[in-house]
Amino acid sequence: MIETRGLRHTYPGGSALQFDDVAVSQGDTLLLRGASGSGKSTWLALAAGLLTPQTGEMVVAGQPVAALGAGERDRWRARCIGFLPQKLLLSEALSVADNLALVYFASGLGVDRAAIARALDALGLGPLAARQPAQLSGGQAQRVALARALLLRPQVLLVDEPTASLDDAACTASLGWLQQGAAQTGATLVIATHDARVVQALPQARTLGFRAPVPEALA
Ligand code: ADP
Ligand code: MG
Repeated sequence: MIETRGLRHTYPGGSALQFDDVAVSQGDTLLLRGASGSGKSTWLALAAGLLTPQTGEMVVAGQPVAALGAGERDRWRARCIGFLPQKLLLSEALSVADNLALVYFASGLGVDRAAIARALDALGLGPLAARQPAQLSGGQAQRVALARALLLRPQVLLVDEPTASLDDAACTASLGWLQQGAAQTGATLVIATHDARVVQALPQARTLGFRAPVPEALA
């Protein structure tokens, strides 16, 4: 579940980003739609507790994010939030399976190799477990990052511009895996995108529109 009220964020020296209120039920899909620079990635960072809004409230996975202290916030994020960033940030030095193992260190949990194998199998990645990221296609690498994001069965899966550099076939495949992965784990799926193909492909999804920021002098 996600709920926001009166959310507003200003970067130092930047314009005020204002976000419409939204409420999303557990398991639903929400699209954050708007042009580049309209604040979609900022909204995701707020939802993950990586940024704190100047004004407003945000409840994510049932948790008022602002109520968490710094250490609690990292643990909460690691366990309750799955993040699939635009830059996948896979470690090139580690195998696919060991990239997933890093999740357990970030969460203060013991490494569960069986759970890693299950998470990879669920997305058809079992045969790639021993590969290095350099030996994957772009689509496969994204799917590995998706498996990593879903490993601890987060309540919320936040995805930033998953289709920006994909052709039509890869775009369709990517959205299929995202929906399948979120459905398998029961996660609420949030996709930030300026790609009209995503909106067409997910007509049942809720949409939150983003506008250009208001210059500080007018805000
Ligand atoms: P989007 O994801 O929709 O492209 P962003 O959330 O990345 O939009 O950015 C919204 C606005 O905030 C833009 O004007 C951008 O330049 C600004 N911005 C983003 N990150 C920072 C930052 N770390 N410091 C200052 N300004 C930022
Ligand atoms: Mg962005």
